[in-house]
Amino acid sequence: MQFIDLAAQQQYIRKGLDKRIADVLSHGGYIMGPEVGELEMRLAEFCGVKHALGCANGTDALQLAMMAMGVMPGDAIFCPSFTFASTAEIVPMMGATPIFVDIVPDTFNICVKSLERAIAAAKELGLRPTGVVAVDLFGLPADYDAIEAIASAEGLWVLADSAQGFGADYKGRKTGSIGKMATTSFFPAKPLGCYGDGGAIFTNDDDLADLVKSYRVHGKGSHKYDNERVGINSRLDTLQAAILLEKLSVYAEEIEKRQVVANRYQAALADIIKTPSVPDNMVSVWAQYTVTCGEGQDRETIMSRLKDDGIPTAVYYPRPLHQQTAYSAYPSDPEGLPHSESLSNRVFSLPMHPYMQSDDQNRVIDAVIKAIPR
Ligand SMILES: *Cc1c(COP(=O)(O)O)cnc(C)c1O
Repeated sequence: MQFIDLAAQQQYIRKGLDKRIADVLSHGGYIMGPEVGELEMRLAEFCGVKHALGCANGTDALQLAMMAMGVMPGDAIFCPSFTFASTAEIVPMMGATPIFVDIVPDTFNICVKSLERAIAAAKELGLRPTGVVAVDLFGLPADYDAIEAIASAEGLWVLADSAQGFGADYKGRKTGSIGKMATTSFFPAKPLGCYGDGGAIFTNDDDLADLVKSYRVHGKGSHKYDNERVGINSRLDTLQAAILLEKLSVYAEEIEKRQVVANRYQAALADIIKTPSVPDNMVSVWAQYTVTCGEGQDRETIMSRLKDDGIPTAVYYPRPLHQQTAYSAYPSDPEGLPHSESLSNRVFSLPMHPYMQSDDQNRVIDAVIKAIPR
């Protein structure tokens, strides 16, 4: 059994993929070819945002967004600690300071009370609270209404790191369209992935979009050899855009299929182990289906029993950022990050993808029931 079965998806869309790839080989526009613009238009349509701009990967997407918003030394940027390193990694690269915030254990996303404490702490340290990077962890949108209320009261921007949650639903708004800017990743294992690296930046702001277009091509101005600013080289390959166009055409359908898998897990496992909760008015894209071990449930024992039964599992994330070597010296919520620390020892994720057949789901469910002592 596969943890994420990309081959099943490929089989389903293979004809269209072959045609799209053949088109690129014929026209030869490998850099910023027509597929890139077409994909950007379709992505913007999909999530209801004015500008979608491709780039080389989801980490560069965060960098380009922060460059466009002018992040600089002295800025305090608030990030959850329970996330992938990319969420915070660009902040010190821009000379600014990441401040780590705890999460809500039910949703795995930013806790706004912890965010408020972290903002106060940043001010005491003489830093300038500037922005919040909200993560849609495991495919579930962060609580944007609550985050945006604090952000607007404090004059902060919200950058949505939707690498795992592109296209999820938050109270009728789609991720990608939420926040001053949003980013995603097309890493193959993400809900919307390509066959290599890729990423995108989203915004409704024309000026920010223009800045991203410039920064992603060396800071170009209207004349190719008169660069207006110092930029980077971060474009989405035409071939990857071609592949993504085909994948995007089935993405809405795949989100529904992921929900069917999640519903089955929920119905069969909710009494056995803590299953993920999705707040009212939200739809997750289920980048991961992550369960949480409770009292007397030892994660390593359960995972090894599942492995013996042929069920692959994975731990996202075994160590929160504020406890990692590169990030442990940065400030965090002065009351500590107990949920990030506790969950990193208790969570694991089950196989989840849109093409999972019901007999495979039954195998997972039976094995989990067998693996957990009661
Ligand atoms: C995957 C991921 C990224 C980075 O994406 P890359 O394309 O691998 O650079 C950023 N943030 C989160 C939350 C991610 O899961």
